[in-house]
Amino acid sequence: MQMTPNGHEPIVQPRIAADLHEGKVNLLGLNRDELKDALRDFGVPEKQLKMRTTQLWHWVYHKGATSFDEMTTISKDMRAKLVEHFIVKRPEIVEAQYSNDGTRKYLIRFADGIEAEAVYIPEDDRGTLCVSSQVGCTLNCKFCHTGTMRLVRNLTAAEIVAQMMIARDDLDEWKSPTEGRMVTNIVMMGMGEPLYNFDNVKKALDIIMDEEGIQLSRRRITLSTSGVVPHMERCGQEIGVNLAVSLHAVNDEVRSEIMPINKKYNLDDVLRACANYPGAHNARRITFEYAMLKGINDSDEDARQLVRLMRKYKLPAKVNLIPFNPWPGVEYECSSDEQIKHFSDIVFQEGISAPVRTPRGRDIMAACGQLKSASEKKSKAQIAREEKEALVTS
Ligand code: SAH
Ligand code: SF4
Repeated sequence: MQMTPNGHEPIVQPRIAADLHEGKVNLLGLNRDELKDALRDFGVPEKQLKMRTTQLWHWVYHKGATSFDEMTTISKDMRAKLVEHFIVKRPEIVEAQYSNDGTRKYLIRFADGIEAEAVYIPEDDRGTLCVSSQVGCTLNCKFCHTGTMRLVRNLTAAEIVAQMMIARDDLDEWKSPTEGRMVTNIVMMGMGEPLYNFDNVKKALDIIMDEEGIQLSRRRITLSTSGVVPHMERCGQEIGVNLAVSLHAVNDEVRSEIMPINKKYNLDDVLRACANYPGAHNARRITFEYAMLKGINDSDEDARQLVRLMRKYKLPAKVNLIPFNPWPGVEYECSSDEQIKHFSDIVFQEGISAPVRTPRGRDIMAACGQLKSASEKKSKAQIAREEKEALVTS
Protein backbone atom coordinates (compact mmCIF):
# COMPACT_ATOMS: atom_id res chain seq x y z
CA MET A 1 0.00 0.00 0.00
CA GLN A 2 1.35 3.45 -0.89
CA MET A 3 1.82 5.84 2.00
CA THR A 4 2.23 9.57 2.12
CA PRO A 5 5.48 11.13 3.29
CA ASN A 6 4.18 11.31 6.82
CA GLY A 7 3.39 7.62 6.52
CA HIS A 8 -0.23 7.88 7.66
CA GLU A 9 -2.79 8.15 4.96
CA PRO A 10 -3.17 5.32 2.47
CA ILE A 11 -3.96 6.13 -1.15
CA VAL A 12 -7.66 5.56 -1.67
CA GLN A 13 -8.35 3.32 -4.61
CA PRO A 14 -11.33 4.02 -6.82
CA ARG A 15 -14.33 1.73 -6.82
CA ILE A 16 -14.16 0.36 -10.37
CA ALA A 17 -17.60 -1.23 -10.07
CA ALA A 18 -19.03 2.28 -10.22
CA ASP A 19 -18.47 2.13 -13.99
CA LEU A 20 -21.17 -0.45 -14.57
CA HIS A 21 -24.32 1.25 -15.80
CA GLU A 22 -27.48 -0.81 -15.51
CA GLY A 23 -25.36 -3.86 -16.07
CA LYS A 24 -23.71 -2.44 -19.20
CA VAL A 25 -19.98 -2.00 -19.50
CA ASN A 26 -18.71 1.47 -20.34
CA LEU A 27 -16.18 1.24 -23.18
CA LEU A 28 -14.79 4.69 -22.50
CA GLY A 29 -11.48 4.38 -20.70
CA LEU A 30 -10.76 0.75 -21.59
CA ASN A 31 -7.38 0.10 -23.14
CA ARG A 32 -7.00 -2.22 -26.12
CA ASP A 33 -6.55 -5.37 -24.06
CA GLU A 34 -9.54 -4.59 -21.88
CA LEU A 35 -11.66 -3.76 -24.90
CA LYS A 36 -10.69 -7.06 -26.49
CA ASP A 37 -11.51 -8.94 -23.26
CA ALA A 38 -14.86 -7.19 -23.00
CA LEU A 39 -15.71 -8.20 -26.56
CA ARG A 40 -14.55 -11.77 -25.94
CA ASP A 41 -16.75 -11.98 -22.80
CA PHE A 42 -19.62 -10.70 -24.87
CA GLY A 43 -19.15 -13.58 -27.30
CA VAL A 44 -17.29 -12.13 -30.28
CA PRO A 45 -15.56 -15.10 -31.96
CA GLU A 46 -11.78 -15.27 -31.54
CA LYS A 47 -11.09 -14.71 -35.25
CA GLN A 48 -13.09 -11.49 -35.32
CA LEU A 49 -11.71 -10.06 -32.09
CA LYS A 50 -8.84 -8.08 -33.53
CA MET A 51 -10.96 -6.51 -36.23
CA ARG A 52 -13.81 -5.61 -33.86
CA THR A 53 -11.41 -4.15 -31.31
CA THR A 54 -9.82 -1.96 -33.99
CA GLN A 55 -13.23 -0.83 -35.21
CA LEU A 56 -14.52 0.12 -31.81
CA TRP A 57 -11.23 1.73 -30.79
CA HIS A 58 -11.43 3.94 -33.87
CA TRP A 59 -14.99 5.04 -33.15
CA VAL A 60 -14.55 5.63 -29.44
CA TYR A 61 -11.14 7.31 -29.40
CA HIS A 62 -10.54 8.64 -32.90
CA LYS A 63 -14.02 9.81 -33.76
CA GLY A 64 -15.32 10.46 -30.25
CA ALA A 65 -18.56 8.52 -30.90
CA THR A 66 -20.94 8.35 -27.97
CA SER A 67 -23.58 6.09 -29.54
CA PHE A 68 -23.41 2.87 -31.51
CA ASP A 69 -25.67 4.37 -34.21
CA GLU A 70 -22.78 6.54 -35.34
CA MET A 71 -20.52 3.53 -35.91
CA THR A 72 -21.43 3.06 -39.53
CA THR A 73 -18.58 0.70 -40.42
CA ILE A 74 -20.14 -1.87 -38.09
CA SER A 75 -23.14 -3.82 -39.38
CA LYS A 76 -26.57 -2.85 -38.07
CA ASP A 77 -27.06 -6.31 -36.56
CA MET A 78 -23.83 -6.10 -34.65
CA ARG A 79 -24.58 -2.59 -33.46
CA ALA A 80 -27.94 -3.73 -32.16
CA LYS A 81 -26.18 -6.42 -30.13
CA LEU A 82 -23.47 -4.11 -28.85
CA VAL A 83 -26.00 -1.61 -27.58
CA GLU A 84 -27.50 -4.24 -25.29
CA HIS A 85 -24.21 -4.84 -23.48
CA PHE A 86 -22.14 -1.72 -23.77
CA ILE A 87 -22.32 2.04 -23.51
CA VAL A 88 -19.87 4.82 -24.34
CA LYS A 89 -20.55 7.34 -21.64
CA ARG A 90 -18.74 10.47 -20.45
CA PRO A 91 -19.00 11.61 -16.88
CA GLU A 92 -21.25 14.60 -16.35
CA ILE A 93 -20.08 18.22 -16.61
CA VAL A 94 -21.73 19.81 -13.59
CA GLU A 95 -20.46 23.26 -14.38
CA ALA A 96 -18.44 24.83 -17.20
CA GLN A 97 -17.04 28.27 -16.44
CA TYR A 98 -15.56 30.49 -19.12
CA SER A 99 -13.01 33.10 -18.11
CA ASN A 100 -12.83 36.42 -19.91
CA ASP A 101 -9.37 35.38 -21.14
CA GLY A 102 -10.80 32.31 -22.91
CA THR A 103 -9.83 29.78 -20.24
CA ARG A 104 -12.51 27.15 -19.62
CA LYS A 105 -12.90 25.27 -16.36
CA TYR A 106 -14.95 22.10 -16.15
CA LEU A 107 -16.28 20.70 -12.93
CA ILE A 108 -16.79 17.01 -13.68
CA ARG A 109 -18.89 14.58 -11.65
CA PHE A 110 -17.95 10.92 -11.84
CA ALA A 111 -20.22 7.89 -11.47
CA ASP A 112 -19.91 7.79 -7.66
CA GLY A 113 -20.68 11.49 -7.28
CA ILE A 114 -17.08 12.60 -6.66
CA GLU A 115 -16.03 15.76 -8.50
CA ALA A 116 -12.78 17.02 -10.03
CA GLU A 117 -11.75 19.92 -12.23
CA ALA A 118 -10.04 20.18 -15.61
CA VAL A 119 -8.99 23.45 -17.26
CA TYR A 120 -8.55 24.37 -20.93
CA ILE A 121 -6.13 27.22 -21.65
CA PRO A 122 -6.03 28.58 -25.21
CA GLU A 123 -2.88 30.41 -26.34
CA ASP A 124 -1.76 31.82 -29.69
CA ASP A 125 0.15 28.75 -30.80
CA ARG A 126 -1.42 26.01 -28.71
CA GLY A 127 -4.30 24.90 -26.54
CA THR A 128 -3.42 23.20 -23.28
CA LEU A 129 -5.65 20.98 -21.20
CA CYS A 130 -4.74 20.78 -17.53
CA VAL A 131 -5.85 17.38 -16.27
CA SER A 132 -6.45 16.15 -12.69
CA SER A 133 -5.13 12.81 -11.47
CA GLN A 134 -6.62 12.69 -7.98
CA VAL A 135 -9.49 14.31 -6.13
CA GLY A 136 -7.69 16.23 -3.42
CA CYS A 137 -4.06 15.57 -2.59
CA THR A 138 -2.15 13.98 0.27
CA LEU A 139 0.76 16.36 0.11
CA ASN A 140 -0.54 19.62 1.61
CA CYS A 141 1.84 22.11 0.03
CA LYS A 142 1.10 25.27 1.97
CA PHE A 143 0.61 27.55 -1.03
CA CYS A 144 -1.77 25.23 -2.89
CA HIS A 145 -5.55 25.28 -2.67
CA THR A 146 -5.87 21.60 -3.67
CA GLY A 147 -3.53 20.82 -0.79
CA THR A 148 -6.15 22.04 1.68
CA MET A 149 -8.43 19.17 0.62
CA ARG A 150 -7.83 15.72 1.97
CA LEU A 151 -7.28 13.07 -0.65
CA VAL A 152 -10.71 11.77 -1.57
CA ARG A 153 -9.49 9.17 -4.02
CA ASN A 154 -7.36 8.44 -7.03
CA LEU A 155 -9.04 8.87 -10.39
CA THR A 156 -9.35 5.81 -12.61
CA ALA A 157 -7.69 5.74 -16.02
CA ALA A 158 -11.15 6.10 -17.55
CA GLU A 159 -11.81 9.23 -15.51
CA ILE A 160 -8.50 10.74 -16.57
CA VAL A 161 -9.12 9.98 -20.27
CA ALA A 162 -12.67 11.30 -19.91
CA GLN A 163 -11.35 14.77 -19.07
CA MET A 164 -9.78 14.89 -22.53
CA MET A 165 -12.93 13.54 -24.19
CA ILE A 166 -15.12 16.12 -22.44
CA ALA A 167 -12.87 19.01 -23.42
CA ARG A 168 -12.87 17.83 -27.05
CA ASP A 169 -16.68 17.57 -26.95
CA ASP A 170 -16.97 21.08 -25.58
CA LEU A 171 -14.53 22.48 -28.14
CA ASP A 172 -16.28 20.54 -30.91
CA GLU A 173 -13.05 19.12 -32.27
CA TRP A 174 -13.94 15.52 -33.13
CA LYS A 175 -14.88 16.49 -36.69
CA SER A 176 -11.20 16.88 -37.49
CA PRO A 177 -9.54 14.46 -35.08
CA THR A 178 -5.92 15.40 -35.87
CA GLU A 179 -5.90 18.52 -38.08
CA GLY A 180 -6.48 21.92 -36.49
CA ARG A 181 -6.73 20.57 -32.98
CA MET A 182 -7.86 22.85 -30.19
CA VAL A 183 -6.30 20.69 -27.47
CA THR A 184 -2.72 20.43 -28.71
CA ASN A 185 -1.08 19.78 -25.34
CA ILE A 186 -1.86 18.10 -22.06
CA VAL A 187 -0.34 18.97 -18.72
CA MET A 188 -0.88 16.67 -15.76
CA MET A 189 -1.05 19.72 -13.51
CA GLY A 190 -4.59 19.68 -12.20
CA MET A 191 -5.64 18.35 -8.84
CA GLY A 192 -3.42 15.78 -7.19
CA GLU A 193 0.02 14.23 -7.45
CA PRO A 194 0.12 12.15 -10.65
CA LEU A 195 3.02 9.98 -9.51
CA TYR A 196 0.98 8.80 -6.51
CA ASN A 197 -1.52 7.43 -9.03
CA PHE A 198 1.10 6.07 -11.40
CA ASP A 199 -0.68 3.06 -12.91
CA ASN A 200 -3.88 4.89 -13.77
CA VAL A 201 -2.01 7.90 -15.14
CA LYS A 202 0.17 5.66 -17.28
CA LYS A 203 -2.80 3.72 -18.59
CA ALA A 204 -4.71 6.91 -19.39
CA LEU A 205 -1.78 8.55 -21.18
CA ASP A 206 -1.12 5.39 -23.18
CA ILE A 207 -4.71 5.56 -24.42
CA ILE A 208 -4.40 9.27 -25.23
CA MET A 209 -1.10 8.73 -27.10
CA ASP A 210 -2.29 5.70 -29.09
CA GLU A 211 -1.65 6.21 -32.79
CA GLU A 212 -5.04 4.96 -33.91
CA GLY A 213 -6.98 6.92 -31.33
CA ILE A 214 -6.53 10.43 -29.98
CA GLN A 215 -2.93 10.46 -31.22
CA LEU A 216 -1.44 13.07 -28.99
CA SER A 217 2.34 12.90 -29.16
CA ARG A 218 4.30 12.24 -25.97
CA ARG A 219 6.24 15.42 -26.76
CA ARG A 220 3.07 17.38 -26.18
CA ILE A 221 2.36 15.91 -22.78
CA THR A 222 3.98 17.14 -19.56
CA LEU A 223 3.62 15.50 -16.19
CA SER A 224 4.25 17.64 -13.14
CA THR A 225 5.40 16.15 -9.86
CA SER A 226 6.14 17.62 -6.49
CA GLY A 227 9.17 15.30 -6.47
CA VAL A 228 8.07 11.73 -5.83
CA VAL A 229 11.58 10.48 -6.42
CA PRO A 230 11.01 6.69 -6.62
CA HIS A 231 8.56 7.08 -9.51
CA MET A 232 10.35 9.76 -11.52
CA GLU A 233 12.61 7.40 -13.44
CA ARG A 234 9.67 5.08 -14.13
CA CYS A 235 7.78 8.04 -15.52
CA GLY A 236 10.50 8.63 -18.10
CA GLN A 237 10.98 4.98 -18.91
CA GLU A 238 7.40 3.74 -18.92
CA ILE A 239 5.40 6.78 -20.02
CA GLY A 240 8.08 8.84 -21.78
CA VAL A 241 6.43 12.23 -21.42
CA ASN A 242 8.07 15.55 -20.54
CA LEU A 243 8.75 16.15 -16.89
CA ALA A 244 7.98 19.23 -14.82
CA VAL A 245 9.07 19.45 -11.22
CA SER A 246 7.58 21.71 -8.58
CA LEU A 247 10.71 23.21 -7.09
CA HIS A 248 9.49 26.40 -5.38
CA ALA A 249 12.55 26.79 -3.15
CA VAL A 250 16.32 26.50 -3.45
CA ASN A 251 17.19 25.24 0.02
CA ASP A 252 15.81 22.44 2.16
CA GLU A 253 14.74 24.68 4.99
CA VAL A 254 12.32 26.73 2.92
CA ARG A 255 11.25 23.82 0.73
CA SER A 256 10.39 21.64 3.73
CA GLU A 257 8.43 24.51 5.22
CA ILE A 258 6.25 25.07 2.16
CA MET A 259 6.27 21.52 0.70
CA PRO A 260 6.21 18.83 3.40
CA ILE A 261 7.20 16.14 0.86
CA ASN A 262 10.70 17.67 0.97
CA LYS A 263 11.20 16.04 4.38
CA LYS A 264 10.97 12.69 2.64
CA TYR A 265 12.65 13.47 -0.68
CA ASN A 266 14.89 16.50 -0.27
CA LEU A 267 16.31 18.83 -2.88
CA ASP A 268 19.37 16.69 -3.47
CA ASP A 269 17.22 13.55 -4.00
CA VAL A 270 14.90 15.40 -6.38
CA LEU A 271 17.63 17.08 -8.42
CA ARG A 272 19.61 13.86 -8.74
CA ALA A 273 16.47 12.13 -10.00
CA CYS A 274 16.07 14.97 -12.51
CA ALA A 275 19.64 14.57 -13.71
CA ASN A 276 18.90 10.87 -14.31
CA TYR A 277 15.53 11.44 -15.96
CA PRO A 278 15.46 9.26 -19.06
CA GLY A 279 15.52 11.39 -22.19
CA ALA A 280 16.43 14.61 -20.38
CA HIS A 281 18.74 16.41 -22.77
CA ASN A 282 18.72 19.85 -24.29
CA ALA A 283 15.97 19.20 -26.78
CA ARG A 284 13.69 17.94 -24.00
CA ARG A 285 14.49 20.02 -21.01
CA ILE A 286 12.98 19.54 -17.59
CA THR A 287 10.71 22.34 -16.50
CA PHE A 288 11.11 23.61 -12.96
CA GLU A 289 8.04 25.31 -11.60
CA TYR A 290 8.65 28.10 -9.16
CA ALA A 291 5.74 29.99 -7.57
CA MET A 292 6.86 33.47 -6.58
CA LEU A 293 6.03 33.98 -2.91
CA LYS A 294 6.76 37.41 -1.49
CA GLY A 295 9.55 37.36 1.09
CA ILE A 296 9.74 33.55 1.08
CA ASN A 297 11.62 32.42 -2.03
CA ASP A 298 11.96 35.48 -4.25
CA SER A 299 15.23 37.20 -3.29
CA ASP A 300 18.11 37.92 -5.68
CA GLU A 301 20.16 35.41 -3.72
CA ASP A 302 17.45 32.77 -4.28
CA ALA A 303 17.70 33.42 -8.02
CA ARG A 304 21.48 33.02 -7.95
CA GLN A 305 21.20 29.84 -5.88
CA LEU A 306 18.70 28.49 -8.40
CA VAL A 307 21.28 28.95 -11.14
CA ARG A 308 23.97 27.28 -9.01
CA LEU A 309 21.74 24.25 -8.46
CA MET A 310 20.97 23.87 -12.15
CA ARG A 311 24.71 23.97 -12.86
CA LYS A 312 25.71 21.68 -10.02
CA TYR A 313 23.42 18.91 -11.22
CA LYS A 314 24.07 19.72 -14.91
CA LEU A 315 20.37 19.97 -15.57
CA PRO A 316 18.94 20.66 -19.00
CA ALA A 317 16.46 23.04 -17.43
CA LYS A 318 13.85 25.62 -18.09
CA VAL A 319 12.40 27.54 -15.16
CA ASN A 320 8.74 28.53 -15.18
CA LEU A 321 8.14 31.43 -12.84
CA ILE A 322 4.52 31.33 -11.72
CA PRO A 323 3.17 34.46 -10.05
CA PHE A 324 1.57 33.04 -6.91
CA ASN A 325 -2.18 32.68 -7.33
CA PRO A 326 -4.03 33.58 -4.14
CA TRP A 327 -7.05 31.76 -2.74
CA PRO A 328 -9.28 32.43 0.28
CA GLY A 329 -7.47 31.99 3.56
CA VAL A 330 -3.93 31.55 2.23
CA GLU A 331 -1.08 33.08 4.22
CA TYR A 332 1.17 34.00 1.28
CA GLU A 333 1.29 36.93 -1.07
CA CYS A 334 2.52 37.13 -4.62
CA SER A 335 5.90 38.83 -5.18
CA SER A 336 5.80 42.23 -6.85
CA ASP A 337 5.89 42.38 -10.65
CA GLU A 338 9.25 44.16 -10.46
CA GLN A 339 10.80 41.47 -8.28
CA ILE A 340 9.46 38.68 -10.50
CA LYS A 341 10.94 40.39 -13.55
CA HIS A 342 14.23 40.99 -11.74
CA PHE A 343 14.39 37.33 -10.59
CA SER A 344 13.70 36.20 -14.15
CA ASP A 345 16.46 38.48 -15.50
CA ILE A 346 19.07 37.12 -13.06
CA VAL A 347 18.35 33.54 -14.08
CA PHE A 348 18.10 34.42 -17.75
CA GLN A 349 21.44 36.28 -17.74
CA GLU A 350 23.07 33.02 -16.70
CA GLY A 351 21.75 31.35 -19.82
CA ILE A 352 18.74 29.56 -18.32
CA SER A 353 15.35 30.33 -19.77
CA ALA A 354 13.03 31.65 -17.03
CA PRO A 355 9.82 33.02 -18.53
CA VAL A 356 7.13 34.42 -16.26
CA ARG A 357 3.92 32.52 -16.79
CA THR A 358 0.97 34.83 -17.30
CA PRO A 359 -1.72 33.77 -14.86
CA ARG A 360 -4.74 32.42 -16.73
CA GLY A 361 -8.30 32.04 -15.56
CA ARG A 362 -7.78 33.68 -12.17
CA ASP A 363 -11.28 35.20 -12.35
CA ILE A 364 -12.82 31.71 -12.32
CA MET A 365 -10.26 30.23 -9.86
CA ALA A 366 -8.80 28.11 -12.65
CA ALA A 367 -5.15 29.20 -12.33
CA CYS A 368 -2.31 26.99 -11.04
CA GLY A 369 -2.94 25.87 -7.50
CA GLN A 370 -6.47 27.28 -7.29
CA LEU A 371 -8.37 24.09 -8.09
CA LYS A 372 -10.51 22.56 -5.41
CA SER A 373 -13.83 20.71 -5.52
CA ALA A 374 -16.46 20.36 -2.86
CA SER A 375 -15.96 16.59 -2.68
CA GLU A 376 -15.04 15.53 0.82
CA LYS A 377 -13.53 12.36 2.00
CA LYS A 378 -16.35 10.46 3.67
CA SER A 379 -16.00 8.27 6.69
CA LYS A 380 -17.05 4.62 6.44
CA ALA A 381 -19.94 5.37 8.81
CA GLN A 382 -21.13 8.17 6.53
CA ILE A 383 -21.02 5.93 3.45
CA ALA A 384 -22.92 3.20 5.31
CA ARG A 385 -25.53 5.73 6.44
CA GLU A 386 -26.02 7.05 2.91
CA GLU A 387 -26.28 3.56 1.44
CA LYS A 388 -28.90 2.68 4.05
CA GLU A 389 -30.89 5.84 3.29
CA ALA A 390 -30.73 5.08 -0.44
CA LEU A 391 -32.16 1.60 0.24
CA VAL A 392 -35.00 3.01 2.30
CA THR A 393 -35.97 5.58 -0.29
CA SER A 394 -35.72 3.25 -3.32
N1 SAH B 1 0.88 17.86 -7.73
C1 SAH B 1 1.66 18.14 -8.86
C2 SAH B 1 0.82 18.64 -9.98
C3 SAH B 1 0.13 19.99 -9.73
S1 SAH B 1 0.78 21.06 -10.90
C4 SAH B 1 2.73 19.13 -8.49
O1 SAH B 1 2.68 19.68 -7.41
O2 SAH B 1 3.66 19.31 -9.28
C5 SAH B 1 0.32 22.60 -10.39
C6 SAH B 1 1.50 23.54 -10.26
O3 SAH B 1 1.05 24.75 -9.66
C7 SAH B 1 2.56 22.98 -9.34
O4 SAH B 1 3.84 23.40 -9.74
C8 SAH B 1 2.19 23.64 -8.04
O5 SAH B 1 3.25 23.63 -7.13
C9 SAH B 1 1.82 25.01 -8.49
N2 SAH B 1 0.99 25.72 -7.53
C10 SAH B 1 0.25 25.22 -6.53
N3 SAH B 1 -0.40 26.21 -5.88
C11 SAH B 1 -0.07 27.36 -6.50
C12 SAH B 1 -0.46 28.71 -6.32
N4 SAH B 1 -1.33 29.05 -5.39
N5 SAH B 1 0.07 29.63 -7.15
C13 SAH B 1 0.91 29.28 -8.14
N6 SAH B 1 1.29 28.02 -8.38
C14 SAH B 1 0.81 27.06 -7.56
FE1 SF4 C 1 -0.61 18.38 -4.14
FE2 SF4 C 1 0.79 19.53 -6.16
FE3 SF4 C 1 -0.90 21.00 -4.65
FE4 SF4 C 1 1.37 20.09 -3.60
S1 SF4 C 1 1.17 21.57 -5.30
S2 SF4 C 1 -0.65 20.02 -2.62
S3 SF4 C 1 1.56 18.12 -4.60
S4 SF4 C 1 -1.46 19.32 -6.00
